[in-house]
Amino acid sequence: MILPAPSSPIQLLDLAAEHALLQPALNEAMADVLKSAAFIQGPPVAQFVGELGEYLGGAHVIPCANGTDALTLALMSLNLPAGAEIIVPAFTYVATLEAAALLGLRPVLAEVQPDTFNLAPAAVAAALTPRTGAIIAVHLFGQCADLQALRALATRHGVALIEDNAQAIGATFQFESGETAFAGAVGEVGTTSFFPSKNLGCLGDGGALTARDPVRAALLRQLANHGQSQKYYHQRIGLNSRLDTLQAALLSVKLRQLPHNTAARQAVAARYDAGLAAVPGLILPARDPRSTHVYHQYTIQVAEADRRDDLQNHLRRLGVPTMIYYPLPIHAQPAYVYLGYRAGQFPVADRLCGAVLSLPIHPLLTAEQQDYIIGSIRAFFGS
Ligand SMILES: *Cc1c(COP(=O)(O)O)cnc(C)c1O
Repeated sequence: MILPAPSSPIQLLDLAAEHALLQPALNEAMADVLKSAAFIQGPPVAQFVGELGEYLGGAHVIPCANGTDALTLALMSLNLPAGAEIIVPAFTYVATLEAAALLGLRPVLAEVQPDTFNLAPAAVAAALTPRTGAIIAVHLFGQCADLQALRALATRHGVALIEDNAQAIGATFQFESGETAFAGAVGEVGTTSFFPSKNLGCLGDGGALTARDPVRAALLRQLANHGQSQKYYHQRIGLNSRLDTLQAALLSVKLRQLPHNTAARQAVAARYDAGLAAVPGLILPARDPRSTHVYHQYTIQVAEADRRDDLQNHLRRLGVPTMIYYPLPIHAQPAYVYLGYRAGQFPVADRLCGAVLSLPIHPLLTAEQQDYIIGSIRAFFGS
């Protein structure tokens, strides 16, 4: 049964309302930066980096201009030979492999797991060759990839593990040993994005890297700032990839809100889990008991994939926006045809692109709105 429409329209994300709640602090942060005129590398950058490092359990944090640059810098720091192979998931956002392709490295796709959407360790094992330089694990939609297995594979084969943590900031993973680590702090390098719609978003573009090793952290810091050791002395070819002072100041305000927002996203996910559990024809997002899930997305699968678009249209008519992350797998993207993969080579990625649907999830989604969304989905399946 479809409930009456909620009193305020449902949005995929309501950044205007989230920011309105923080308006006095955001205004103050902006006014301070304006007054200081220290727009590049001003004191708020170091302050935010310190705060984020503390939030992430003491990791070294290197700020940069965006999450894609973070991946570029991570690969540059590995000093790999031209043509080295970089194993990436076949189901991810394109930025994960774009950097490798631009740097003259060779992206090698590996299949993902149908329930968690994350890299399948067996597929990574099969893709490893003597030319492999790194594995990039993506913590897709907010849950850690199988870091236990992926770290073991990387260590055994002497290749670097990079974590693309653009979607899972604050998630943690528990190893068999009992050790718990933050997403991004397990591999040689973790990368993240502060794109406005990410769980920790700024008001423009921004990104960061995390590193366990202080020597690598220093190298990354240098690479992100024209490869310089001091102003006008350049050790390496680097990038101009800095986090603006203004964005850093705003991020300090937003970081204080992140634990609350994460808990709110988890509560939304729990309500979806309960409300949709009995709906035949739906596959709900799997939780890996070893990982916390920060629910950047709540992504369902329609078991009969050819009904997915009908469900999306049905919801759109009822005022429920949804998104398809991602509609076309990497191996079918025109830009990556040169990698030479054949249609049907990644059946899980293919199936997911046809079956997934991400529902509205954000910290201000109300129970009333959620019950309407759940009711609308149940009505489609007649349950
Ligand atoms: C957003 C995102 C990126 C890129 O971040 P930008 O800041 O937009 O460059 C990389 N990987 C994944 C998985 C992402 O979701």
